[in-house]
Amino acid sequence: MSIVRRHPRAPAAVGWIVRTLEDAGFETWAVGGAVRDAILGMDSVDWDLATRARPEQVRGLFKRTVPIGIEHGTIGVLARDGTLYEVTTFRRDVETHGRHATVEFADRLDDDLSRRDFTINAVAWHPLRDELHDPFGGVADLERGLLRTVGRPADRFAEDYLRVLRALRFAGRLGLAIDAPTWTALTAATDRLDVLSPERVREELLKVLGADERPTRALTLYAESGVLAALMPELAALVGAPRPNRPVDGWSFALAAVEALPLRRPLLRLAALLQLAGPRAAAQLLVRLRFANAQTELVAALVGAGLGPPPRGAPAADLRRWLSRVGPARLRDLTRLWCAQERVDRALGVPAPVDAAGAWRELRRELRDGAPLRVGDLALDGNDLIRAGLKPGPHFGHILGALLERVLDDPALNHKDALLPLARELAEEGSEARGRRR
Ligand code: ATP
Ligand code: MG
Repeated sequence: MSIVRRHPRAPAAVGWIVRTLEDAGFETWAVGGAVRDAILGMDSVDWDLATRARPEQVRGLFKRTVPIGIEHGTIGVLARDGTLYEVTTFRRDVETHGRHATVEFADRLDDDLSRRDFTINAVAWHPLRDELHDPFGGVADLERGLLRTVGRPADRFAEDYLRVLRALRFAGRLGLAIDAPTWTALTAATDRLDVLSPERVREELLKVLGADERPTRALTLYAESGVLAALMPELAALVGAPRPNRPVDGWSFALAAVEALPLRRPLLRLAALLQLAGPRAAAQLLVRLRFANAQTELVAALVGAGLGPPPRGAPAADLRRWLSRVGPARLRDLTRLWCAQERVDRALGVPAPVDAAGAWRELRRELRDGAPLRVGDLALDGNDLIRAGLKPGPHFGHILGALLERVLDDPALNHKDALLPLARELAEEGSEARGRRR
């Protein structure tokens, strides 16, 4: 049961925008997520306003505006506090296609509210009159802790299947139970989720991971509803998968690790979620959801680094090899991941396989000593080899790679006098080998 406020508060600029529009004769209300969150006593920065004014009329009334989406009726109004508020003309759906809607402008607030997804998102608030307009009982649902669609659940999901994912996100973050008819329609809709664009699914997943301190609830609903199996089979495979020597399955372990990581690092949380699925599955999922290449590489690298650092007391050369393979830039993120997993194991009463903080100290020491870790760190390069009389060619790459191996074993070798003779040896061995093949 939540405590709701029937007299929510908003930043002063919201009142100023509403007054400006109403003084010009245009009915205007605060709507959407900010009203919902304010009723629950939570601060929100994203205040959305709905108005009877048409976009051109909104533009005419304010000095500083941004045409965010004129065709959808949205104008950004820049307030003196530096915040951009979205002002959108009342709309009505003309046609829906399961993934996006054709809309037209409407004259009535209720038209606009009835196209919104859930009752809790369809409450309007008038900041000047401090009046709630709530035709679908959203405030009562917040009070009871219930998530319900506006109108017939099956119809509303079929209009836009993204609402399936949104329902799970709101229910999870706000701790709401999903009303039985809504849940029945929702689970039935999961086999149509393939119509959604991967980008929208990706943004939903990032919102769950990056805007919910405790995403376990939402993600558990993903698993229970069939959304996980439909959209992220790589993760569904973890549900019920035994973890050696641990009292929980892979999915529960992954969820706990996600919650041990900061909200501000959704990609790190995603890596924790995918860790037990492995680097191939991780890359496959991220590519399918059209994550940027750099994001996919980061997550796959974090997952690919395995469940821990080199074992305690490993020789320094092993530490350097490990750093060379994983890349020193990832060390901090990896340590965060291991620490999260260590905390989960500790909470489960399982002796943690890694001592994350200890590993971090040892690896940092190698880094601080400036040990050469990549070919670029070597005391010589291809030009030095040419100057030393070696014939340039693709074998240079092999020579430099072999030199790095030697230097990883013994960093003291990293100067020209030591490396050039080794390079000559390697070049001769190479040309003999090529000669034999001929
Ligand atoms: P949050 O910003 O925390 O994700 P929100 O409720 O503000 O939550 P937005 O995506 O910002 O969500 O959308 C603002 C409002 O627009 C919603 O509260 C809802 O009324 C409406 N809305 C957004 N997406 C949909 C949708 N797919 N179907 C119906 N209504 C929607
Ligand atoms: Mg919002």
